[in-house]
Amino acid sequence: MSGVRFAESRSVSSSCVVEFVQHSVDQIVLHAHARAARARCPHCSRASGRVHGRYFRRLVDAAIGGRAVVVELLVRRFRCLNGACTAVTFAEQIEGLTTPHARKTPLLRAVLLSIACTLAGLVPVWPRCWASGSPRTPC
Ligand SMILES: [Zn+2]
Repeated sequence: MSGVRFAESRSVSSSCVVEFVQHSVDQIVLHAHARAARARCPHCSRASGRVHGRYFRRLVDAAIGGRAVVVELLVRRFRCLNGACTAVTFAEQIEGLTTPHARKTPLLRAVLLSIACTLAGLVPVWPRCWASGSPRTPC
């Protein structure tokens, strides 16, 4: 597997930074982390910048040119600073990329949902079809 390390970090979105990309014949791996220094506790909404720990999370994304795409995301676990909150620690979420416990990106989930609905003869309710912009017209 070969790779490309950027001289400067590249943004995937306003809230995520890609540090480098590895690629092989059948796979592309994006190594990324959140841009924000702080995160909001999902239980009490209080912001925290006190990092408790870090771990890697792998998210499968939609394929590009027949290659599997994986986002290797460095996730921080923060300590909630609100003494009255039931959460002691919480993992940061990146808007538009992660949801708790998900192993697929929202884009891949939408593609799979569209395929499943098409195979079942149903019209996808969510999300709207990107090609037509209509919720009633499958791609
Ligand atoms: Zn909290």
